[in-house]
Amino acid sequence: MIDSDRLGEKIAQTLLDHEDQIMIAVFSSHNGNIIFFNKGAEVLTGFTRDEIIGQSFEILYPSEEADIYRKIQKMILKTKKGKRKILNMRHKSGVNIPVEIKLNPVLNEEGNVEGFILIAGDRSIRDAIVRELERSEEKFRTLFERSDDALLLLDGSKFTDFNPAVLKMLGATREQVMSSQPWDLSPQYQPDGELSAEKALRMIHKAQTQGSHRFEWIHKRINGELFPVEVILTPVNYGDKSVLYTVWRDISKRKKAEERLKEAEEIFRIITENSADMIWIRDLNMNYTYLSPAVEKVLGYTVEQKFKQRIEEYIKQEDVELIYQTVQEQISLDKIPGVDPNRSLRFEVEELCKNGRWIWTESITSFIRDDVGHPIGILGITRDISAQKKLEDELREAKEKAEESDRLKSAFVANMSHEIRTPMNSILGFSELLTDESLSAENKNTYISIIQSSSNQLLSIISDIVDISKIEAHQIEIAHEEVNLDKLFTDLFEQYTLFIQSNKSESLLFARTCDKASCSKKILSDTNRLKQVIINLIDNAIKFTPEGEIHFGCRPGPAGYIEIFVRDTGIGIPKEKIDRIFERFYQNKTNKDVFTGTGLGLAICKSLVELMGGEMKVRSKINQGSEFSFTLPLVKSR
Ligand code: ADP
Repeated sequence: MIDSDRLGEKIAQTLLDHEDQIMIAVFSSHNGNIIFFNKGAEVLTGFTRDEIIGQSFEILYPSEEADIYRKIQKMILKTKKGKRKILNMRHKSGVNIPVEIKLNPVLNEEGNVEGFILIAGDRSIRDAIVRELERSEEKFRTLFERSDDALLLLDGSKFTDFNPAVLKMLGATREQVMSSQPWDLSPQYQPDGELSAEKALRMIHKAQTQGSHRFEWIHKRINGELFPVEVILTPVNYGDKSVLYTVWRDISKRKKAEERLKEAEEIFRIITENSADMIWIRDLNMNYTYLSPAVEKVLGYTVEQKFKQRIEEYIKQEDVELIYQTVQEQISLDKIPGVDPNRSLRFEVEELCKNGRWIWTESITSFIRDDVGHPIGILGITRDISAQKKLEDELREAKEKAEESDRLKSAFVANMSHEIRTPMNSILGFSELLTDESLSAENKNTYISIIQSSSNQLLSIISDIVDISKIEAHQIEIAHEEVNLDKLFTDLFEQYTLFIQSNKSESLLFARTCDKASCSKKILSDTNRLKQVIINLIDNAIKFTPEGEIHFGCRPGPAGYIEIFVRDTGIGIPKEKIDRIFERFYQNKTNKDVFTGTGLGLAICKSLVELMGGEMKVRSKINQGSEFSFTLPLVKSR
C-alpha cells in the first residue's frame, strides 16, 4: 500500500517543480489502476476524476504506444529513477496529443517501486514544438546560407535578408547590398532595351500579383562586370507581411555553352552549305531528315524534291536491299562488346540524277545515337565518284591490255621459234639434199626454189621483228621524197600478177582500180615504207582470200588526203576481233591452223602509216571480205 503521507510529500514536491497547468496522475505499480488525477489531468485528457479513478492507466495512452509505456515502467522498476520522453497521450475524444511526459517512481520504505507519478503539461508540448521549429529553421537557415544560388528576400524594392552567395556573386559588402535596390546592381538598360529600374519594378509587380515567375536578367558586379542570371521571384508570407523570395542563378556558363553550341551549329551550317559533297542525316528507314544544298549540284534535285523521294526511286533495287541488310547487320553488331560505336561504313552505289543519268557515288556513313547509345539515325557524306570510277575502269583496261600484250609477247616468242625454225629447217634440209651429185636438174631447181622461198620467208620474219623493235624504240626514219604513185601501183600490179599466176589458180582475180586523178597527185613520203605497207596488205588479202577478187589502188580521201586501199572478197574478220587486229602480236586464232604469220604485219603497217602522217582503217564482213585503207597527206598546192 502506498503511504499517503509519503505520497502527499511527493505530490507537493512535484507540484512545486511544475508550475502552470500540469497534469498529474498516479497509478499503482501492481495493477496499473489510477489513484490520483489532478485538475490539469482533467483538462488535458478530457476525462473527469470520477470517471478515471480506479481505471487502468492504459486508458490514457494509444495502444500502438503501449510497448513504449511498458518499457519505460520496466526501466524505472529497475533503475528506480524517473524518465522523460515525448509521447502521445490519448484524449477522451480519441485524438492523440503529443506531450512530454515525466514518469517518476514512488518508492516505499524498503526502497521498492510501488507506483508511478506521471507529469505532463502544456508547457512541455510548447517546448517540444518550439524546439522542433528551431531545428527546422536552423535547417533552412543552413540551406539558405550554404546555397550556391544567391537567395534574397525582397521587401518592396529593398533587400531584407540574403545569403553569402549574393555577396560573392556581386563582389559586394553586406552594407552595399543592404543599401541597394535591384536596379542599382544592374546596368542601366537590359538587353531588350528596357530601363533596368522600370523592368525590375514591372517584374516585382508581376510576381506580387500573378505569383512566382522566372526571367533572365543582366546584373552588374561592384567592379562593373556584367553577368547573366536567371531570376525566380516567389511571393511568400513572412511573419505578417508578404515578401518576394528571390533566387539569382548565375547562368554565365549556360550562356557560354549556348553560344558555343550556336557557334558549332554555325560552323556545321557553313560546312554543310558550302561543301561540294552532300552531307545528310537519314532516319533508320532511309528517309532524309537533313540534306545539304550540294545535292542540287551533284544530283540536280533540290533539297525539297529529294526529301519527297523514297530511296527505291533513285537507287537500284539490289543496292537498296544491300543497304538495308548492312544497316540491320550493323545494328546487331552493336550488341557485341568492344565494337566501336563510332565506326564508319563506306557504300558505293549508282544514283539516279534528275537528268536521267546514273552516277557513281561514294558514301561514308556512321550512326547517330540517342543518350543511351541506341542508333536513331545515320549521318553521311556522299560524293560523286563517276570520274574516279571512269579512271579506274580505264586503268583496269590498260592493265588488262598490258597483261594481254605481255601474254601475246610470250606467245609470240614461242611462235617465233616455230616460224623461224620451219623455213630454217627447209633451208638446211634442202641445201643438204643439193650436195647429192646424182640429183636430177629438175629436182635441183625445185629444191633451190624451196630454199629461196624459205629464205624470203625468214627474211620477212626477221624484218618484221626489226621493224617492230625500231617502231617501239622510235628509231624509224621516214623519208620525205616525192612518190610516184602511178609507177608504184604499176610495179606492184605487175609483180603480183606474175606471183598469182605462178602460185595460185585462176580462181583469184587481182586488179588495180585507181582513180586517175588521185594517182597523179603529188605526195611527199617514203616510197619504200609505203610499198612495204601495201605489200603487207596485199599479202594478207591473198592469204585470207582462197578464191575471189582482190582490188587495190587509190582514190580521193578526205580534204587534203588521198586514200590507198586493198580490198578482198575473202574470209573477212569477225566483228568482235576487228578492233584488235592492229595490236601487236594479235592473230585471229580461228585462222591460226590454216594461215601462218607473226601477228606483226598490221601493227607495223598502222605505225608506218601514222608516221607518214596518215590514218589506217579497216572494214570487214565475215565471209564477204575486207577492205584495208589508209590516208596520206597531199602536198599543199601553193
Ligand atoms: P599475220 O602475220 O598473222 O597475218 P597481221 O598483223 O598481218 O598478222 O594480221 C593480223 C590478223 O588479222 C591476221 O591473223 C588475220 O586474222 C587478220 N587479217 C589481216 N588481214 C586480213 C584479211 N585481208 N582478211 C581476213 N583477215 C585478215
